[in-house]
Amino acid sequence: MAERKPIESWLTDMDGVLMHEGIPVPGADAFIKRLKESGRPFLVLTNNSMYTPRDLHARLARIGLEVPTENIWTSALATAQFLDDQRPGGTAYVIGEAGLTTALHDIGYVLSDSDPDYVVLGETRTYSFEALTRAIRLINDGARFIATNPDETGPSTEGALPATGSVAALITKATGRKPYFVGKPNPLMMRAGLNAIGAHSETSAMIGDRMDTDVRAGMEAGLETFLVLTGLTTPDEIDRYPYRPTTVVDSIADLVERV
Ligand SMILES: [Mg+2]
Repeated sequence: MAERKPIESWLTDMDGVLMHEGIPVPGADAFIKRLKESGRPFLVLTNNSMYTPRDLHARLARIGLEVPTENIWTSALATAQFLDDQRPGGTAYVIGEAGLTTALHDIGYVLSDSDPDYVVLGETRTYSFEALTRAIRLINDGARFIATNPDETGPSTEGALPATGSVAALITKATGRKPYFVGKPNPLMMRAGLNAIGAHSETSAMIGDRMDTDVRAGMEAGLETFLVLTGLTTPDEIDRYPYRPTTVVDSIADLVERV
């Protein structure tokens, strides 16, 4: 394998790496502190498009993780960036929460249910039959279908929650149209994040707890990848995938000294 350059910037997944079921992973606070002291560019990533970076900053601060708002990168921000590149100043019909609507407003998009350029689907806990019907009809009438992330379920303390990917599947079934998913494992999510902090793939690393999203997206974007075992992946599962992380570590605590 080609020798990698020293790591100058870090991307890390949030759930399963820094926190797990609402509890900080031991070492996460030390890792974030070290990153901030180092002055190196870094981003904390999440595929969840429900919250704004300010919301997430507050949620992380509540469990003792002080991540500055500008160091948080969500699939909603990546989706807004994508739409701004593709069709600046466009219109969208949105099913989603403040994380997504705020990101779209911030790039100058107008939210509209009348002949929009796009139907944009994100994470929400308040799907309505009316909104889904409207989305389906707008897609049938020619609106392009975008979804923030392909996750089919999300975690909660009571069990699985249906997530964006499952609702997208419903709309696909009704329209025959598949969405373009912007979030992980699409390497666009990583590349847009790297751009946002002025980092380069050959000197960046991605830390994640999932092979099929974090490691895959990191690898495809050309990053060094670290798999942590504090989330969804068990050691015996790793070899079932056709790709490997650069390094497997027990937890984020093992990476504090690498920054
Ligand atoms: Mg995760």
